[in-house]
Amino acid sequence: MASPSLWPPSGPGRQLRPEEAAWLGAMLDAEGCVTTTPDGHRVQYISISNTEIELISAVLRAAGVGTVWALLRKASHHRQAWRWQLARIADLTALLPQLEVYSLKAQRALSLIRPMWERAQEARKPKTCIDCGQAITKRTRVRRCWSCAGVRRWAKRKQTVED
Ligand SMILES: [Zn+2]
Repeated sequence: MASPSLWPPSGPGRQLRPEEAAWLGAMLDAEGCVTTTPDGHRVQYISISNTEIELISAVLRAAGVGTVWALLRKASHHRQAWRWQLARIADLTALLPQLEVYSLKAQRALSLIRPMWERAQEARKPKTCIDCGQAITKRTRVRRCWSCAGVRRWAKRKQTVED
């Protein structure tokens, strides 16, 4: 499934120690959420919520990325809740593989993110000419390089003349 040249993506992101990754993975499974688009095909963000701000700031320190939000209280007697959230695809692809062996939710998120990331990388690759294999830098929809396209036009014209 995953082609090794495209995964894991190299990028910034904190390298977690194994005990940090295990803890964060367990936190994600216990208190966390993988939020997808309504069709369930794309991950929008992952989050971990708790009423203990110390717990949420420990999550932020361990992950090294993400944003912490104060959640609106639905009733005045409810305790203030906090949420750590991570939405940037580059951050998710740097962090989640480190949690993968410890967390079912990380595995689930990655099963959606990996194909998405690979399609994006594939689309970013330079196109090559279908005749000679040279890179095409001009327009993305062109399938032949300028010189091969020119040869074909010339050959077609010549054929028309000879007919
Ligand atoms: Zn060519």
